[in-house]
Amino acid sequence: MQTVVTAKLKLNTTPEQFKALRTTQLAYRDSLNYVSQYAFAHGKMSNAVRLQDATYEEIRLRFHLPSQMACSVPRQVGASYKTLWTKVKNNAVHRKEGKTKKRYKGLDKAPKFISPTLTYQYKKDYTFKKEQQVSILTLEGRVIVPYTGYNKHVALIQRGAEIGASKLWYDKAKKQFYLLVSLEVEMADPPPETHKQVVGVDVGMRYLAVTATMQGNCTFHADISTVAKSHHSARLRKRLQKKGTRSATRRLVAISGRERRLKANVNHVVSKRIVLQHPQSLIGLEHLTDIREQTKRRKGKSAKQRKANRAFSKWSFAELHSMIAYKALLHRSTAIKVDANYTSQACPKCGHTCKENRPHKGLLFLCQNCQYTLHADLVGARNIAMRTLLIRQDWRGTGLLSVRPDVSDDEAKAARLKRYAELRWSSDTTPSPRL
Ligand SMILES: [Zn+2]
Repeated sequence: MQTVVTAKLKLNTTPEQFKALRTTQLAYRDSLNYVSQYAFAHGKMSNAVRLQDATYEEIRLRFHLPSQMACSVPRQVGASYKTLWTKVKNNAVHRKEGKTKKRYKGLDKAPKFISPTLTYQYKKDYTFKKEQQVSILTLEGRVIVPYTGYNKHVALIQRGAEIGASKLWYDKAKKQFYLLVSLEVEMADPPPETHKQVVGVDVGMRYLAVTATMQGNCTFHADISTVAKSHHSARLRKRLQKKGTRSATRRLVAISGRERRLKANVNHVVSKRIVLQHPQSLIGLEHLTDIREQTKRRKGKSAKQRKANRAFSKWSFAELHSMIAYKALLHRSTAIKVDANYTSQACPKCGHTCKENRPHKGLLFLCQNCQYTLHADLVGARNIAMRTLLIRQDWRGTGLLSVRPDVSDDEAKAARLKRYAELRWSSDTTPSPRL
């Protein structure tokens, strides 16, 4: 399996180099906003080639960007518009189907690029030099800057890992530049025989993650309301939004950056704990679509939960999942995805599936058929573990591993859900020796 690792390199700049980089990244951001305005005024255009034809000269003359960089700008803006268009279209479908009433407003005005993060293409506008130096393009030509980083990452760069694009990132508080380089690393998927156990991971807004093994072990990771409490930006944010002055906006940007970093850090810590706790395992995650991710976030109606939801409206479960998948490989485990449908409603013991199994959508799972009672989040994790076990059996039988469910084929999906419905959890039986 090809995995992408991001190496964070600290750039040890001279004052002149610092100035050159800063000027360049601000000019780049200004050109992004210029092209974004242009695209918006011309039918919210997302075609990168047409955008380039129309704006290239202006970018060169007005913002003095070197030609390679000037080509990146329309490409990046085009890609942003494409993503937004997809959201607009999905939203229209969801509204038609009655899944939501809210109209997506992302394309009501030209998207504004606030972060001055600049993307560099490898070999075109940045290259690595010997003795831990990197050559980076600026408005005033190339600068050669010494860098430092995590030993393993530096070794990967020097040993010739597949080097991809990089981002120039400015840490405003520390007045420090970093280069975030993406490296492609080849990692072998461990064969099924080496896995010692199967683990199901349920994510949500109450506990960020709950894990369950087929042996009946479980762990609850990161109570989100506690995480939310440990940092009180929700109220402050509201106040700043009301104020709406320039300095208020600046503080809002700073807060949102801090929040994003805090969440990424929690995702890091939790994913690391999960893979360390379950080495050599087949780890099952849910296949979350946009809609399902939203319902995951809304889960939980208590005042405490609502407060947590407010503080952390957009936790990235996708990020958590990809961190687990990547770290799993480092510990000879494999992460796969299973269908998320009914994982919180199906009774692990008798298979009875209905909404009422979760009275008031609360903490408790209470099967309406067999009275089986359990913590609701643990039910999800156990159901995922059982589905993962089923996939493992298929894997051993056919020699083929399906790392994620094929959701394009409705019939195949219905067949899978039917098989899932026949799964039964029993804590009394010792795990089968086949496992
Ligand atoms: Zn039941």
